[in-house]
Amino acid sequence: MRIIRYQTEAGTPAYGWMLDDKVGEVQGNPFGEYRRREARIPLDELTLLAPCEPSKIVCVGRNYVDHAKELGHEVPKIPLLFFKPPSSILAANQNIVLPTQSKQVEHEGELVVVIGKRAKNIAAEEAKEHIFGFTIGNDVTARDLQKTDGQWTRAKGFDTFCPFGPWIDTDFDPSDAVVTCRVNGQMRQMASTRDMVFNVGALIAYVSSIMTLEPADLIFTGTPAGVGELRGGDLVEVEIEGLGKLGNPVK
Ligand code: ZN
Repeated sequence: MRIIRYQTEAGTPAYGWMLDDKVGEVQGNPFGEYRRREARIPLDELTLLAPCEPSKIVCVGRNYVDHAKELGHEVPKIPLLFFKPPSSILAANQNIVLPTQSKQVEHEGELVVVIGKRAKNIAAEEAKEHIFGFTIGNDVTARDLQKTDGQWTRAKGFDTFCPFGPWIDTDFDPSDAVVTCRVNGQMRQMASTRDMVFNVGALIAYVSSIMTLEPADLIFTGTPAGVGELRGGDLVEVEIEGLGKLGNPVK
């Protein structure tokens, strides 16, 4: 099942579910008890919101060997974690805004895990039971500020730097899906999730050994090689095989 969030005519947010290109309302909480209404609203008539509201967004750095190498780093022996603030969340099709403080903003196309059940000290083999689904993310990064700052909070934390969506797929298999990122139609990144240094189960085990994960929390699983600059007027599209495509213009 694919879950979206959208703006209703009254201006309030609502959850929806998708049947082909039609959307039906989800009454209740998709992370708990809910009921699906008939799918009859065409998807392209809706203003999409980011598909869930995470309490925290945990990201993994250097989780593909080739990307670690292209930035001149060793592959980490344990996952390298950082946060993006919920204030950086952006819906599909909305503008990524380039901040004046940076001269080098880059895209990072990534597979994103959405947590479904509260998770603390979860074994990798049990991780699956705590996953709600998967979505597509772009870990937008001010690369120049990442290099000068010891901590990445500024480089990763600007408003609009966390596009994800357009939906959450609850049936997606993350073991071997190709992640691509295109800018203005030109291919920049391409790798299979099979090339991750730490897979989804290992990441959930590691993160939940540190902090309690809550329903709707996100884990950005790292980006393949090929990160590159975004300029005003660009259209950046992250696509994951079997999951869909996330597009955002750059302003
Ligand atoms: Zn990243």
